[in-house]
Amino acid sequence: MAEVYILGAGPAGAGAAAELERLGIDYILIDRASFPRSKPCGGVLPWRAVEELRLPGDVAERWLEGYRIFSPSLEKVESRFPSRGAVVRRSALDAYLLSLLEKKPSRVRVVRVREKADRVELLTDDGKLSADYLIAADGANSVARRSLGIHYTKLALACQYVLELPEGAVEERIGGWFEVYYLFSRGYGWLAPLRSCVKAGIGGLGSSFSRRALDSFIRATPVAEKLAGGKVIRYQAHRIPMQGPAERLATERAVLAGDAGGFVFPGTGEGIYYAIKSGAAAARAVAQAMEGDALAGSYEEELKGAGLLSLRGVHFLEEVLASPEHAERYVRRLKKLFQ
Ligand SMILES: Cc1cc2nc3c(=O)[nH]c(=O)nc-3n(C[C@H](O)[C@H](O)[C@H](O)COP(=O)(O)OP(=O)(O)OC[C@H]3O[C@@H](n4cnc5c(N)ncnc54)[C@H](O)[C@@H]3O)c2cc1C
Repeated sequence: MAEVYILGAGPAGAGAAAELERLGIDYILIDRASFPRSKPCGGVLPWRAVEELRLPGDVAERWLEGYRIFSPSLEKVESRFPSRGAVVRRSALDAYLLSLLEKKPSRVRVVRVREKADRVELLTDDGKLSADYLIAADGANSVARRSLGIHYTKLALACQYVLELPEGAVEERIGGWFEVYYLFSRGYGWLAPLRSCVKAGIGGLGSSFSRRALDSFIRATPVAEKLAGGKVIRYQAHRIPMQGPAERLATERAVLAGDAGGFVFPGTGEGIYYAIKSGAAAARAVAQAMEGDALAGSYEEELKGAGLLSLRGVHFLEEVLASPEHAERYVRRLKKLFQ
């Protein structure tokens, strides 16, 4: 029995743990993986995340100048960050976030969550755990979310290769830019530069976002030219929530943070920064619930205060990724804005 369990030790779980420590509240952090662990991810961090995390140089594989966005007709627009962003390997970033905590995660796999009137029960491979409160930060396929009866309608599939390029090629062909390609309906492709490798991926809604489609993406112009001579060293696939934060994000004793709650920007798949912020908001809401406030109401207020509910008003899928024509118009509008 613990007062607060945090399920999942990725960015959302680490963000929640750091905030509970700041508030002086004890917690137990659990994850089925042992760290450092890998997570399929472009690893792109915008400038504000780099600033807030004071990201160390050895965690940043490459500093980023901004986004380079391509329309279906390969019209290009560059959106420069006000200060540098970064591309990271998730094994390094997540280990770094955990290194900032006083406690380390325990290795436990949760198979189901059950809410009772006076506690939350976590059914694990190894027996039952009970807590007063649960911060569920167990990612896009969240067991907690499904156990609590909260369902997503738009859970995209994303596939990604890590390719090693000939010496100097990453710098010369991509440099410090995260490239986003709006070439398809209901999804997009990307190139994220590391030191000598590139992450090349596609993600979106529907069965067309498969490894075969990823193969076509990396063979198409201009991506193929940028990846020429590249050797695939890893293939990964995972889900990305694309509908924005769920309408119901909390019960009386459990809150959903990070991907489990749908905190991802659907135009780029960016979720790391929102995961950390929503984890911290969840921790503050739990602190208020301990004082007698309703958990769901407190969480909604904390999310609003942190600006995270604006993700609910982003209709990127419907307005930009609806068709190549929509995407073309969007990129042309951006071009007028930025150039
Ligand atoms: C291909 C791809 C590319 C992406 N690119 C970017 C990008 O460039 N930039 C960006 O900001 N975001 C990107 N994202 C999104 C980003 O990866 C997520 O938003 C982010 O990881 C969310 O953090 P989280 O802590 O909520 O979940 P996760 O990082 O998924 O962490 C969840 C943790 O919960 C644990 N867990 C899960 N289930 C259980 C269980 N049953 N029992 C115990 N432990 C469990 C897992 O082991 C894991 O450690 C990408 C996603 C994908 C799939």
